[in-house]
Amino acid sequence: MAKILVIGGSLGGLFAANILLRQGHDVTLLEKAIGSLDGRGAGIVTHDALADALREAGIAVDDSLGVAVSKRVTLGADGESLGEMPLSQILTSWSRLYHLLKENFPSERYLQGKNVKTVSQDASSVQVTCEDGSSYEAELLIASDGIRSAVRAQVAPEIQPEYAGYIAWRGVCDESHLSNYTLDTLFNYFGFCLPNGEQMLGYPVAGSGNDTRPGKRRYNFVWYRPASEDGELVKLLTDADGHYYPTGIPPLKVSWKHIAEMRKVARDILAPQYAEILEKTASPFLQAIYDVRSDQIVFGRIALMGDAAFVGRPHVGMGVTKAGDEAIVIARHIAQFGATPAALDAYSNERLTLGQQVVARAQYLGRYMQAQGSKGTRDSNSLRRNADTVMAETAIDISTLLVEGKAVPESL
Ligand SMILES: Cc1cc2nc3c(=O)[nH]c(=O)nc-3n(C[C@H](O)[C@H](O)[C@H](O)COP(=O)(O)OP(=O)(O)OC[C@H]3O[C@@H](n4cnc5c(N)ncnc54)[C@H](O)[C@@H]3O)c2cc1C
Repeated sequence: MAKILVIGGSLGGLFAANILLRQGHDVTLLEKAIGSLDGRGAGIVTHDALADALREAGIAVDDSLGVAVSKRVTLGADGESLGEMPLSQILTSWSRLYHLLKENFPSERYLQGKNVKTVSQDASSVQVTCEDGSSYEAELLIASDGIRSAVRAQVAPEIQPEYAGYIAWRGVCDESHLSNYTLDTLFNYFGFCLPNGEQMLGYPVAGSGNDTRPGKRRYNFVWYRPASEDGELVKLLTDADGHYYPTGIPPLKVSWKHIAEMRKVARDILAPQYAEILEKTASPFLQAIYDVRSDQIVFGRIALMGDAAFVGRPHVGMGVTKAGDEAIVIARHIAQFGATPAALDAYSNERLTLGQQVVARAQYLGRYMQAQGSKGTRDSNSLRRNADTVMAETAIDISTLLVEGKAVPESL
């Protein structure tokens, strides 16, 4: 049994902490935030590998994981279908996964209000100090502290998030608020709408209390829109009182003026079904989209995982699944090599290139979105082609493509 520290108590950290604890290790998780992390995320596309990671974490996976859809559909600006594609998927939510993982992990090992400030290591251990003055020591440290990882900033400060040039408006709308037209033509499907150089997508998720009964569910949407880094982005990350949040604006701080503007544009350029959803979503929020591509994820007794290691733009729908995969691989190598740098090196050998491929595929999907129609030459045939490609490539299971090294088409 080894002493292992996990930094970050969101989905990635909870996967690692649960799996390592089940292997019999003495795991302590340090999370900066105080209170529940609920309310941070929205919808999550599941893949078989995500269910595998939940099982490894000791969680039974059944139909209550999420809402099943059987089809994808792309809507034109007039609300008519431009194309459809059969594809069965289970759509869950961030908070569903968070509760499953958090309730499975002993609360006395999940320490909150622990803002990790420094990490250091010697031949036999790794040491951590927190802002509150507390310190911890362990044989290994697994850092799953997100896109702006404090651990990564210490061991590899040169690895920085790079802004992709666009933001995503996100939110969830109650099914019970929607018109029959939107319920009949969109609600039950993984839907898309493709205005020039932009992309709207959405799918049904469970409602309050993980209720998956018809009438009680919600529709989760993500609307990607270009925003220049120095102008539009700064404006959007500034609240109604003029306070600027450079690393991300809290959901409830998003300016009502920006929400009103966004809804107006939605009425002009999106399918009416999506315009209705945006109108009836109580608290839309926004996130700037970044890439993080690491050239190194292991530093002696310290490993980076989850968004601390790689962030692929969400088009690939892989962030949580990737974090679960990485947790499994770390635990498997610790089981084989013990809690040693050799185990982490084996993790790096297995996952570094895969992580880079996920980022590359997400960039490819993002570039495709940005390129389509940007020249203003979208006849109805090219729009249909775009729709077919976007439906076939967005948020699909790419585990086989990753193993074969084909996550990005060879022609690029
Ligand atoms: C628009 C959008 C849509 C997405 N859709 C999907 C999807 O469909 N499917 C999917 O799989 N993924 C999706 N993702 C990605 C997914 O949300 C993340 O990849 C996933 O949550 C993994 O996160 P993580 O645990 O590594 O990091 P985070 O969730 O960022 O958690 C990091 C944790 O570390 C804590 N922390 C930070 N600093 C410190 C510190 N110094 N000390 C202690 N604790 C610290 C933070 O408080 C936080 O709790 C999406 C992302 C976005 C932006």
